[in-house]
Amino acid sequence: MRYFDTHAHYNDDKFNGIVDDVLKKCNDVGVKYIINIGYNIESSIKAIELSNKYSNIYVAIGIHPSDVGKCSVEELEDVYNKYNNGKIVAIGEIGLDYSYTKENKKEQIELFKSQIDLANKLKLPIVVHSRDASLDTYNTLKEVPAKYGTLMHCFSPTEDLVRLVLENKYTVAFGGNITYKRAASFSKYMDMIPVEQIVIETDSPYLPPVPLRGTVNTSANLPIIMEKLSEYKKIPKEELSEIVYRNSLEFFNIKQE
Ligand SMILES: [Zn+2]
Repeated sequence: MRYFDTHAHYNDDKFNGIVDDVLKKCNDVGVKYIINIGYNIESSIKAIELSNKYSNIYVAIGIHPSDVGKCSVEELEDVYNKYNNGKIVAIGEIGLDYSYTKENKKEQIELFKSQIDLANKLKLPIVVHSRDASLDTYNTLKEVPAKYGTLMHCFSPTEDLVRLVLENKYTVAFGGNITYKRAASFSKYMDMIPVEQIVIETDSPYLPPVPLRGTVNTSANLPIIMEKLSEYKKIPKEELSEIVYRNSLEFFNIKQE
């Protein structure tokens, strides 16, 4: 089976000096493509540098809501203009995160909107991070739609978000989160989301799937996530992995070699 990791952070310091080894192991289990995701200016540049070195790494550049006030959308646009190597395929991860503080909601929403505008200007899709902020995410995406595609990363279905996804045909990415106990509540939503709108991800080095909690997550764990997804969707994993693989290529507009 072949796999496409739509969300990983090999630009994280945890991978310093071991990226070669880790990517070899990913290759061994059939990982063909990886989107390396930026979360601020520095990590976006580092992601692009990795894509210069590794042919199967593509890039999303963006400012995560937790970096609100620390970097600007103008700086992000400068990164695109200065370093664009043809492998920047999305703006992300961007969005809203109220899990640490709700005090800067307004600033987070402004930053989110301005990055959606940038994505529309550059004709790129967006990768959305939404945590404890589903209603505001819903409203922001309604107000400022991304014209070239929306991917809801680490998707935790809620009433609002599932409605948004179905109405607008957004793509959703499931990761290690679907192997966790609390994912039992996902069941009722899992049936509702068409398989054409689903991709998988790891969020490496974070969110390792069960039974690997507490380890450094890598794209080599995608088969575990696929296994679980296939249980939820009641589709054989051989068939399902091919569908989500093609969904990923299409979403990021990558022409297969
Ligand atoms: Zn992430």
